[in-house]
Amino acid sequence: MQQDAVVGGEALEVWIDQDLCTGDGICAQYAPEVFELDIDGLAYVKGAGEELLQAPGASAPVPLPLLTDVVDSARECPGECIHVRRVSDSVEVYGPDAE
Ligand code: SF4
Repeated sequence: MQQDAVVGGEALEVWIDQDLCTGDGICAQYAPEVFELDIDGLAYVKGAGEELLQAPGASAPVPLPLLTDVVDSARECPGECIHVRRVSDSVEVYGPDAE
């Protein structure tokens, strides 16, 4: 089983605000295991079965080995629409709404 990312002992998850996604595909290049463009040209996070999670605000766990790639995606995302948050309290730790 893949270990999910923890920061300060906290599990993390990631979600995308598709309303702001430009469809450039940077995230899917950085972390294709987590992000993928759908035929609508927008990026989505993937669920455990590799399916794209298309419900608004749907989140996926951040696998620990991919934390750097996911964080880099959030930093480079031109739409500023990749949000990484703690599972326990939904506080954003990387992304446009992080402190
Ligand atoms: S990097 Fe951001 S704007 Fe670009 S495809 Fe991914 S979510 Fe969309």
